[in-house]
Amino acid sequence: MNDSASTQSSTMKAAVLHQIGHPFIIEHVPRPTIEPHEVLIETRTCGICRTDIHMQDGIAYVPDLPHIPGHEPAGVVARIGANVTNLAVGDRVVPHLFITEGDELIADPRHAPSATVKSIIGASLPGGFAEFFKAPAANLLKLPGNIPFEHAGLVSCAVITAVHACHRSRAAAGETAIVIGIGGIGIVEIQILKARGCRVIAIGLTPEDLDLATGAGADLAVTAQQPDDVSSFTAHAGADLAFDFVGIAATMHTCIDALRIRGRLIIVGEEDESPPINTIQLAQRELEIIGSRNGGIDDAREAIQLMADGVVIPRIDRVMPLDQFNQAMDHVRSGNAKGRVVIRVADD
Ligand SMILES: [Zn+2]
Repeated sequence: MNDSASTQSSTMKAAVLHQIGHPFIIEHVPRPTIEPHEVLIETRTCGICRTDIHMQDGIAYVPDLPHIPGHEPAGVVARIGANVTNLAVGDRVVPHLFITEGDELIADPRHAPSATVKSIIGASLPGGFAEFFKAPAANLLKLPGNIPFEHAGLVSCAVITAVHACHRSRAAAGETAIVIGIGGIGIVEIQILKARGCRVIAIGLTPEDLDLATGAGADLAVTAQQPDDVSSFTAHAGADLAFDFVGIAATMHTCIDALRIRGRLIIVGEEDESPPINTIQLAQRELEIIGSRNGGIDDAREAIQLMADGVVIPRIDRVMPLDQFNQAMDHVRSGNAKGRVVIRVADD
């Protein structure tokens, strides 16, 4: 494809949010136009994350409207800007979502950019629930041929987040880790922790959650109503680590109660809650609370490698076409999705 005015001005089909709390409208909008350092990508797939639900509801990452979300996109390079040298038309790619003022992606490759973050693909910028999206070339990573597009989009949120949380936790072989919240990220975290040599206790809500967790390799899968089973599994010493992928007061307390002295709690789930924490428990048991958000570009590279090696096999609930975007969102919202719901925007 060339840089002619006609291709720059073409339209594309997209799922567009016009009003908070309302369904998306599937309509034709102008394609993104690229700057010399940017790349236009023809979308193949884009995963739906709970953050997309929060966005539609106006709870988090409330965008300027109209907005095209989608922060787990994967696709094929359709056009490159004049200054782009690291990619070519036809390359299969996924983006790192955080666009920064400077070179923080390179300077601090193990952390999600924070101080200099300018915008986030799919949140403050248009995302992948559209036939095309754009990204700076520095934010794009090539995909090995053995990662299917249905899985690939998960690199940008679910898998990078699990990889980064594992690094933040300092998980070591032989340690016992609790994973609470058996969704798209929780399942991947179980796979990563098992590959690292940890013993994993999964805490979920339903029998289906527990089956998924066991399928992902958890050594013990229980509900939060079974604290005695968790305690017995650790010989009543408590777990070394707890990963909270829900982020509400109840899950935080379940984790804190189940940790050993000097245990580490890693908070990944984001909700608008301020759980009261017992400071006697925190101080006397010398607990650590560690926040973790998305990841750095090296975490993204590791996420791709783990998928290429078959260590991480994302659980996909179903794949649905862009025309059924609202039904797909309703399915995620229902809580009945067992794994990621992925939108198939175009065939390979
Ligand atoms: Zn997400």
